[in-house]
Amino acid sequence: MQSKETLPVNFENTEIAFRDLSNASLKQAYQLFRVMNSRMLVNIGKHLVNFAFTVHFPVEGIIRNTIYRHFVGGVSIEDCSKTIARLARCNVDSILDYAQEGEESDDAFDATCREVIRTVEFAGNHKNVPFSVFKITGVARFDLLAKVSEQQPLADEEKDEFRRVEERVDAIFRRGFELDVPVLIDAEETWIQPVLDEMVMNLMSRYNKEKAIVQNTYQMYRHDSIERIKQHHRMALEGGFKFGLKIVRGAYMEKERNRAAERGYPSPIQPDKPATDRDFNDITRYFMEHLDTIDFMVATHNEESSLLLARLIDEYNLPRNHRGIYFSQLYGMSDHITYNLAGKGYNVAKYVPYGAVKTMMPYLFRRAEENSSVKGQTNRELKMIRTEIKRRRN
Ligand SMILES: Cc1cc2nc3c(=O)[nH]c(=O)nc-3n(C[C@H](O)[C@H](O)[C@H](O)COP(=O)(O)OP(=O)(O)OC[C@H]3O[C@@H](n4cnc5c(N)ncnc54)[C@H](O)[C@@H]3O)c2cc1C
Repeated sequence: MQSKETLPVNFENTEIAFRDLSNASLKQAYQLFRVMNSRMLVNIGKHLVNFAFTVHFPVEGIIRNTIYRHFVGGVSIEDCSKTIARLARCNVDSILDYAQEGEESDDAFDATCREVIRTVEFAGNHKNVPFSVFKITGVARFDLLAKVSEQQPLADEEKDEFRRVEERVDAIFRRGFELDVPVLIDAEETWIQPVLDEMVMNLMSRYNKEKAIVQNTYQMYRHDSIERIKQHHRMALEGGFKFGLKIVRGAYMEKERNRAAERGYPSPIQPDKPATDRDFNDITRYFMEHLDTIDFMVATHNEESSLLLARLIDEYNLPRNHRGIYFSQLYGMSDHITYNLAGKGYNVAKYVPYGAVKTMMPYLFRRAEENSSVKGQTNRELKMIRTEIKRRRN
């Protein structure tokens, strides 16, 4: 174990971690995390909020001033400008994340596609917004993606529908290519990933000749991810294009395990957390060995993985703001990692989700549930905030 003085970055520095928050905002964050710390309160809150929306009880104001304000950048791209500027003052970049979920119509998919293209255009004009991002299920029907992934035959109208999906995805990356903005595509459930991988690899070969404009996401809780990444990297080398990606641990673990058990196929998920951690860290080392052909982002709230990458960047004697390496966290979470990395000159960006209060509810419920789980990070967040409140008093 290295002593704190010799570490490239100290995540326990709460003065830097919360430099962006006034005393009042810090206290509000403390109250919010305290409420989220209780699984029971989160469950009751979820039901009450859903009920309130159903009977048109005016809860929006309360939500907007509490959990929404903490985790969401604003209702629109323009509305996020203040948040983006505030983060930029502390050297933290932003990635606008248009969080439209659960739509099923072509009109809704077209609208989402147009909005994602607007985020690409915004990024093209703002140096503190280095990437754009989207989810394939924002522009395509889930069941169609599953059907194509499973190589099931498509009816004629489904073939047309899929062609429209390909057009939307291409339009987003094409705009990224025209404006020199890298675009990340999020990873989702394993049973829609094959079609996604195929599309993304084709688009990489089209748009990544000079620079990694098209970037995929890999979930390291899948036991096959290291092999898939290396295979895709080989394809990029053979095809003469740049490979760009972000790694995450993965957000759908229970769902994946349950589906595998129900349908009787082997679970795609690692046997345990240490196996996920091991692969996450091993592949980070692999990226460092292939930096000439890989641009990558490590998207995590895990201190050890963040520290590992920070240390490797220094050991390789690379500039801390090397253009091909990024750290990323979600807005409103793990500020002690984000701000301390930024304070030491590393490239770090927050995913800044935006949307109307009602449309953001699924995202907010996920954040609340994640923070209230036994292994969640609320305790860590609470401890940090408490330390900072005490430090400011002295
Ligand atoms: C900027 C950003 C972008 C993201 N984009 C995506 C995305 O595109 N797709 C996506 O799926 N997720 C995405 N996530 C969420 C991510 O996958 C994780 O769910 C979340 O970040 C928690 O993992 P961690 O590395 O931060 O922290 P940790 O607390 O170290 O790890 C928790 C994670 O470890 C894994 N894990 C936990 N228990 C076990 C176990 N028993 N066996 C095996 N694995 C286990 C799970 O993946 C769990 O989420 C993103 C996260 C961030 C910060």
